[in-house]
Amino acid sequence: MNRREFARLSALLLAASQLPSFAQASGNRKIGYAAVGLGTISDIFMKAVAHSSTTKITALVSGHPEKAARYAEQYGVPKDSIYNYENFDRIRENKNVDATYIGLPNSMHKEYTIRSAQAGKHVLCEKPMAISSAECREMIEACRKANVKLMIGYRVHYDPTHLEAIKILKAGKLGQIECFEGGFGGNFGPNQWRLTKALGGGGSLLDMGIYPLNAIRLYTGEEPAQVAGFVSTRDKESGRFNEVEQSVSWTMKFPSGILATCASSYGASINGFVSIHGMQGMLTMSSAFNYEGLHLRGHYTDPATNHSTDVDIPSTGREPFQFQIEAEHFAECILQNKEPRTPGEEGLRDLEMIEKIYASAGTPIA
Ligand code: NAD
Repeated sequence: MNRREFARLSALLLAASQLPSFAQASGNRKIGYAAVGLGTISDIFMKAVAHSSTTKITALVSGHPEKAARYAEQYGVPKDSIYNYENFDRIRENKNVDATYIGLPNSMHKEYTIRSAQAGKHVLCEKPMAISSAECREMIEACRKANVKLMIGYRVHYDPTHLEAIKILKAGKLGQIECFEGGFGGNFGPNQWRLTKALGGGGSLLDMGIYPLNAIRLYTGEEPAQVAGFVSTRDKESGRFNEVEQSVSWTMKFPSGILATCASSYGASINGFVSIHGMQGMLTMSSAFNYEGLHLRGHYTDPATNHSTDVDIPSTGREPFQFQIEAEHFAECILQNKEPRTPGEEGLRDLEMIEKIYASAGTPIA
């Protein structure tokens, strides 16, 4: 696919994402989300939801009344639909809330997913799903018991540029795949919940490494059979890494024989990337995990004709595109009683693998 064809595909996808096809089928009812936690990611999510013709923000949950009042005005949320963490369970009585969006620190995901389920609300929970696989299982069970849907906010699964890379891969253009590389990291300042064991649950692997881990599981369509990990914390001076690790690298071997080598860091900026190497060519996505500016490049050669094709596919760059597709997908699942493409089990598999990586490195997650 050349750049022009891709631009056309992107425009079509964009148009499709804005068509209220399933909403029309259900009488134009918009799915109402309650944003739980009004931090960085909820801010982006709310913008995306408000931009959609099939979803809307109908309630807010926050410990900061002034911040909640500001967002309430922005999104037209009535005063009686603003909750705090203590009276959150009263959301059960709010008929305008179909689902909660959990944008809280990692270790709070379990509690607010279970409380949402018990209040009869579907749950779209941010990654990482929780801070252990045991917690993930409790969340899945609570949602099953309450008969509500659970989806994890894995943007990559909904992003058109990633889906294009997967299409090239699945069409066999790269030939037999030998190996992947992936990474994501940032140089984080001190005094934030991410650097605490109690709220972060773990360090760079749990927060940033989960991106290449999840993406490579998606790309291969396989679950790693073996894993070997290393943890390293070189900054022992600043105190930033007293509780969680700084950097992690790990290698996975998949049942097919595909190898993947990945890295994550809280001490160095690693522009998110995934590279795929096959017998007939290669692809690199960089940036791979930002909200915009994704770019897929590479080349492959057809062994029958010896014809080489260059791949150069920039993203549409329309933030917050991924979040809108994600929010609309979950809305469609709710309205049509379908299983989300990234259910709780997807989050569980990542946590199981993260625990194996930490265990292999001699640094258990708990
Ligand atoms: P943030 O610090 O910006 O926001 C966290 C929110 O939780 C704040 O509104 C804060 O007031 C609230 N909160 C409630 N209790 C708290 C407590 N005890 N300590 C700290 N904050 C508390 O964080 P964020 O970057 O928005 O991350 C939230 C979640 O979203 C995390 O799980 C993170 O991994 C995930 N995330 C996902 C993406 C993505 O692209 N999918 C990107 C960034 C973050």
